[in-house]
Amino acid sequence: MNEDNKIRVRFAPSPTGYIHVGNARTALFNWLFARQKGGVFVLRVEDTDIERSREEYERNLIQDLRWLGLDWDEGPDVGGNFGPYRQSERLELYHKYARQLLEEGKAYYCFCAAEELESQRQAALAEGRMPVYSGRCRNISLDEARHRLAAGEEAAIRLKVPEEGLIQFEDLVRGLVEFDLKVIGDPIIVRSNGMPAYNYAVVIDDALMNITHVIRGEDHVSNTPRQILLYQALGWKLPVFAHLSMVMGKDNTRLSKRHGATSVDQFRRDGILAEALCNYLSFLGWSPPEGNEVLRLEELVRLFDLSRVSRSAAIFDYEKLHWLNRQHIKLLSPEKKLELALPYLQEAGLVGKDLSSAQQDWLKRAVETLIEGVDKFSELPQKFSLLFDFDPGKMDEEARQIIQTDSARKVLAAFVQKTAELKEFNYEIFAGITGAIKKETGVKGKDLFHPIRVALTARASGLELDKFIPLVEEGSRLSFPRKIKGCLERIGEIASFLKL
Ligand code: GLU
Repeated sequence: MNEDNKIRVRFAPSPTGYIHVGNARTALFNWLFARQKGGVFVLRVEDTDIERSREEYERNLIQDLRWLGLDWDEGPDVGGNFGPYRQSERLELYHKYARQLLEEGKAYYCFCAAEELESQRQAALAEGRMPVYSGRCRNISLDEARHRLAAGEEAAIRLKVPEEGLIQFEDLVRGLVEFDLKVIGDPIIVRSNGMPAYNYAVVIDDALMNITHVIRGEDHVSNTPRQILLYQALGWKLPVFAHLSMVMGKDNTRLSKRHGATSVDQFRRDGILAEALCNYLSFLGWSPPEGNEVLRLEELVRLFDLSRVSRSAAIFDYEKLHWLNRQHIKLLSPEKKLELALPYLQEAGLVGKDLSSAQQDWLKRAVETLIEGVDKFSELPQKFSLLFDFDPGKMDEEARQIIQTDSARKVLAAFVQKTAELKEFNYEIFAGITGAIKKETGVKGKDLFHPIRVALTARASGLELDKFIPLVEEGSRLSFPRKIKGCLERIGEIASFLKL
């Protein structure tokens, strides 16, 4: 079927919610494999669950995948020769092959009522048996079934599978996988409402779309024998299967909101870079052969090796993700950092929408200085409060203690006195004053600078003063929605706070 022997892979999400990191990892591994092998990456939307699928989720899904930096050669939005790429638009095809299977005696109509099947299932579970369909409608002839349908009865269509035997396949990640047919039973392929079951639609689509490698989550391993039975019934060639282990939290339970952010959308809103997220996702089951772990997409394409993907559970490590994010942030230009930081600063009400070039220059420097050590962009407004918020009344206990010692009071009294008449302030003036205080009081080093820093920031920790003073001074001359207090104003407030 595949004339040019190209590798063809697909990512087949159901648009029933935001894309979870587990699925994003599946998309990434498919994409990396396709790009590395000069193959084709297909996006197929599996929207046959009419109650849960929504167009809005499909839009978000496409947006999230694009944000990650992935692109596809065929898909609902870009077209292609094997479309349509939305299952809801392929119902004709599913019906056509179901008719063929019925006529060949490989499938049959099942008239069992849902409640009846459910109580059989419950009974089996209660007795510790696998709930396998009883096969009750297996021998209803196609003619009889058609009469009953014409008379208004409803029926699903089931695939007739052998009652005994083994289904085996060689999984690229998991090795040889085997299932005993006894635990399978005849699977439903088309529901009584005419919608195809997942296991059926996926086979029709993968086969008609010439998919050569099915790379997906481990939760589909147990579906694979049913799908293989369908390939066999239709006389189609099997693709290669590769099932990726589940993504777990550190406590070895499936990654969920309890552990932190889990959707691509949430990571984006938190200010994790797409490059960092892809870099991290690639480590969920795989690791690069060389030492360097900070890898961009191009490098991942070069290094990725599907045959080296591990079958053990992938533990999602938020600290590692944050570390990678910090490394990728360092690789950005100051302009890019500012562009990415602005929405967070605007959202926090620190800066407005229209910025003068002086404001932009200042912000660029401020971001560059404050972003160091920041895990994600959403933490920046908090960092910026060092410049925007100054309130001695809100100092924490540690800061208070630092400025209340006798030595600190002596240093600060001298500082207040030497700055009292000043009209301007900058780092040179500061250096001159502190030099003089050192001489006069004999206090030096940490005992000298620490109280002054606390006095200027109202915090126990913050930036080095050679960075802080120029930023605050220049910032105080710009008009932001929330005004930045200059150093002299801060010293004045500290003086009255300490009653110096
Ligand atoms: N729609 C299925 C899912 O999201 C696709 C599974 C598959 O890749 O076969 O889990």
